[in-house]
Amino acid sequence: MQFLKRSWAEISISALRHNMHQINQILPKGCAPMAVVKADAYGHGYNIVCQILSQMGVNHFAVSNLNEAIEVRKICPDSEILILGYTPPEYAQLLDEYNIIQGILSVEYARILSASSKKTIRCHVKLDTGMGRIGLKNDKPEETAKEIEYICNLPNIKIEGIYTHFAVADTNTEECCEFTKNQADFIKQTAEILKTDGYDIKHTHFMNSAASVNHSDPASTLARVGIILYGLLPNYPEKLNISLKPVMSLKSIVSQVKTISPGTSISYGRTFIADQKMTVATVTIGYADGYPRLLSNKGYVIIHGTKCPILGRVCMDQIMVDVSGVAVTVKPNDIVTIIGKDGNEEITADETAYLIGTIGYEIVCGISKRVPRVIVD
Ligand SMILES: *Cc1c(COP(=O)(O)O)cnc(C)c1O
Repeated sequence: MQFLKRSWAEISISALRHNMHQINQILPKGCAPMAVVKADAYGHGYNIVCQILSQMGVNHFAVSNLNEAIEVRKICPDSEILILGYTPPEYAQLLDEYNIIQGILSVEYARILSASSKKTIRCHVKLDTGMGRIGLKNDKPEETAKEIEYICNLPNIKIEGIYTHFAVADTNTEECCEFTKNQADFIKQTAEILKTDGYDIKHTHFMNSAASVNHSDPASTLARVGIILYGLLPNYPEKLNISLKPVMSLKSIVSQVKTISPGTSISYGRTFIADQKMTVATVTIGYADGYPRLLSNKGYVIIHGTKCPILGRVCMDQIMVDVSGVAVTVKPNDIVTIIGKDGNEEITADETAYLIGTIGYEIVCGISKRVPRVIVD
């Protein structure tokens, strides 16, 4: 293996295949998966993720921006690629050149994009039905349908879909389920009006990962699945009724081991002071690798199948952990599991995130460029 064995992320092809297979099982007939691979496939790497999913028959990919779209285009020459977010209109030419589908965020944006382009740009219109982020925002589906019809008649723009994004599909309270239903009803009614008015728009899509499992609806012609592809949960610790395997494991190694006496402090700020004799290992990962500094005195790692708590502050490139409880002698170069399984122990990105009040998405997306992605099985 030609990578520096310091800190690395293992990307499991079999886990990715397993998750995609599970997703295919639950999608309603007529609903195709649109793999959301923004942010370098949630930190997992476009190359391997797009390749494997393409091999498995996935033909639709979603990204956040033009650079990502072009990256994916290089890997998948024939796939449909949708940019979910904003592209400055001066890049209209590149959308055409790479055959990328652009999300239309407002009537004004549609006008400018139309005026900026000489070729026909393929587009899906985004509806803001409750996320409050981007998209056409109206009180009634009739108004939104009117705006979409206006956009459809602009030159140099071809509307091939409409979509919206759920705000609380991952939360199973009565209130959240009703909110999600109202969002879905809004876009479905809009689609009906467009159809009645003679506008033949191929795609209506609104399911994300959580909705694909919890609010499955055959009216969504595409399911924009992100986080479950990677084997994480949209709203840990709330469970989802689908069997998933985490695709990314994060590994590191021990650089030094020492025994310290009571009163010895560890790391910046001396926030940890030993109250007994203990064995401490230094591990070659830190916040510059994307291991959050908030995990100081909170996180833990696995060494030789035993959980070892972090002592003191996470540094830029290193952490110190308590290996007193490890049955075998810990030595430099020993493998440290930061996220993943070792023996009977497992630490998931979801659990790590939960410790510091964030979500697994942020952990995997945040694993930095310094950490090589290594493909396993
Ligand atoms: C990121 C994103 C998704 C995927 O969400 P998951 O929760 O990861 O499935 C779908 N749609 C839009 C618009 C997004 O921004």
